[in-house]
Amino acid sequence: MPIYEYRCGSCDRVSSFFTRSIAAALTPVCSHCQSGDMQRRMSTFAMGKTTQSVQEQYPASGAASPLDYYRDPRNIGRNVEESFQRHGVEMPPSVRDNIDAARQGSLPKELDI
Ligand SMILES: [Zn+2]
Repeated sequence: MPIYEYRCGSCDRVSSFFTRSIAAALTPVCSHCQSGDMQRRMSTFAMGKTTQSVQEQYPASGAASPLDYYRDPRNIGRNVEESFQRHGVEMPPSVRDNIDAARQGSLPKELDI
């Protein structure tokens, strides 16, 4: 099922929308502030791409720079989560807390993201 991501022009946060058909009428409304001022943005993770391939596909240019990447809180700590998953190791609670805290907007100083 296609996933469309829109960035809100009012609060600058990203909302994801699922739709059964590209032809289906989609009137995006910000899920954070209910603004209708939404701009379509590339949906990369919905297609199962890795962080590396995304960065290769979008070399440091404007909106798709790594800096912008981490403005989406869902991407923070993603590498860490994937590493633990890949090795089948359970994530220590301290790491979990750090990632969760980062996603709330308080970036830890020593977390390797
Ligand atoms: Zn908004």
